Amino acid sequence: MGRNTEKFDAIVAGAGIWGATIARRLAEAGKRTMVLEKRAAVGGNVRCETDPGTGIEVHVYGSHIFHTHIPEVWEFVSRFAAFNGYQHKVLARYGGKTYFLPLGLALINAFFNVDLKPLEVQLFMANEANSKALFDAFFRGYTSKQWGRPPEEIDPSIIKRVPVRSSYDVNYFNDTLQGIPLDGYNSLFERLLDHPLVTVKCNSVFTLDDAEKTDVPVYYSGPLDALFKNRFGPLPWRSLRFERETVDVADFQGTSVVNYTEAKVPFTRIHEFKHYHPEKKEVMAAPKTVIMREYPSEWHPGDEPYYPVDSADSRELLGKYRAEVDALNARRAGSGFRLVVGGRLGSYRYFDMDKSVEAALAVPLE
Ligand code: UDP
Repeated sequence: MGRNTEKFDAIVAGAGIWGATIARRLAEAGKRTMVLEKRAAVGGNVRCETDPGTGIEVHVYGSHIFHTHIPEVWEFVSRFAAFNGYQHKVLARYGGKTYFLPLGLALINAFFNVDLKPLEVQLFMANEANSKALFDAFFRGYTSKQWGRPPEEIDPSIIKRVPVRSSYDVNYFNDTLQGIPLDGYNSLFERLLDHPLVTVKCNSVFTLDDAEKTDVPVYYSGPLDALFKNRFGPLPWRSLRFERETVDVADFQGTSVVNYTEAKVPFTRIHEFKHYHPEKKEVMAAPKTVIMREYPSEWHPGDEPYYPVDSADSRELLGKYRAEVDALNARRAGSGFRLVVGGRLGSYRYFDMDKSVEAALAVPLE
């Protein structure tokens, strides 16, 4: 950190959506807040970049769609961004054909070449051969690539993120409150952090030594293991590698995300970012598009962490690091310092953006 923080009432370490929400709340509660961000820019993995050649907003760390069913969360973010009403659809390539996810009538009828009605779906899927065929086509290969292990070794809650329906509703999320900020995610973060009581310092890492010298509350959303110098070994993550390409066609795949569910295709999905902003007519019509192939990868210390890997081992390790937080807080009780951890990295939880905001809105401030 290496900076005098005496004139601040609180420190927020990590300027992703959890940290930025906390910083805003602190400032609105009258606290002088110092935001320290390790990277060169705020926004965490929601960070975007405008492609200079095409004007397309590229989601640098993969597609991010804001979606929620929590009115308080929507109300909060809507103070800082107007959303464009985009409703996310995901298509899946399998066996040379393209299908609409999630698991619903559109996919089932097309894949099995049947004509089921809504009330017939349950019985059809109760047939083990049918459900196995569907699972093997759309989940087995994708999940093995994504997590580096077969689906049987993955916590079922992960696959259950994908809705199962007996209708033709092909919206990927069940949440009706949905969209992309009209002027981009970076502006959302700029507005969140634009407050006279907020000071942002990028390229600043908050360390355990800083914690020892700090007498104000610290809201930390960096990796928990890194804060404690990996003393019990690193928490396991899954990482991603992206390959970006500008293609000389107006429309590469006709939609924002296509999943490639077969194990033999090395990437999991292709993002085509211009489709997130159908309201930008000129960008849509321009004869170029930006696509990004997403390759899951094993995580090694130093790589970008994307997904926590939930397992008995990682839960035990997480318990040890959480106990360190409690011990530190107990030892520093009465000093004014208190460590609160959150966000995907700090909590080691597979949070969507709205769940991070919800958690940040619920943190008691001192
Ligand atoms: N999944 C799959 N096939 C798909 C889409 C998802 O097997 O076509 C599984 C996979 O295990 C993935 C999980 O469902 O990790 C959750 O998918 P989601 O689209 O929510 O992943 P995210 O966008 O958060 O990476």
